[in-house]
Amino acid sequence: MSWSAIKTEAIILTSAPFREADRRYSALTRDFGKIEFIGRGARKGKAKLAAHLEPYAIVDLEIIKGRRSVTVISVERQYAFRSLMNDIDRRVLTQASLSLVDRHMREYDQDEILYHLVLDWMNFIDKQEKMAKKEQVLLFGAFLLRFMQQLGYEAALSNCVACKEKIMPLSFRWHGGKGGLVCSDCVAKDENEWFAARSILEESVKILRFARESSYEDIVQTNFDRAYVEDFARIVHDLMQYHLPVDSPVPFWQGVGI
Ligand SMILES: [Zn+2]
Repeated sequence: MSWSAIKTEAIILTSAPFREADRRYSALTRDFGKIEFIGRGARKGKAKLAAHLEPYAIVDLEIIKGRRSVTVISVERQYAFRSLMNDIDRRVLTQASLSLVDRHMREYDQDEILYHLVLDWMNFIDKQEKMAKKEQVLLFGAFLLRFMQQLGYEAALSNCVACKEKIMPLSFRWHGGKGGLVCSDCVAKDENEWFAARSILEESVKILRFARESSYEDIVQTNFDRAYVEDFARIVHDLMQYHLPVDSPVPFWQGVGI
């Protein structure tokens, strides 16, 4: 990439102390995808700069790429998600989401749709009043399905992953690694190939479809049975295990918790 200084709108994803007085940041930018950079003196002195490099805000970033590192030269806060900032539950949910985004995006992989997907999610959490744990898990799962879909891992919920025929009620299994539902005919034809496919509740498929296609506002209005939401969460976790592998197999709802 041939730039020395760039300006873009961004959301800070994560930050961590770096060397003695600096901090290392990761930001999701509208125009350049994920960017990692150093905030010089962010831990002392230039406190103004560091204050604006906080998460839970939309910022205008100006960064410069040197021979050895990428450094921030100016940052201006454009919008702060205030209610989100002031509520521990909502902060935990947002931080869990942003860490996942950080972990699974490569640098300079520009994707404006994904940028807005993250922004919409933060906007929703910011505006939403108190959420029960069950709703949080359902909504977080819905965000992750959208995130995976945008990265190219769209779960097949209508047609069989093998023969592509329409999935009929009560005659399917689930295979996270192959990306979705497989029809009973295909399973019967090749049991070795599909031995890892597991049974999945009809209701869970409905929740998966609903969660992926409906607005967060509609999702939060629902009152699905707890058992179905738990099954839904396990399926999303299963998809993540295959498509968004991480070092530890901790399920996404840990911390958010059901
Ligand atoms: Zn099939």
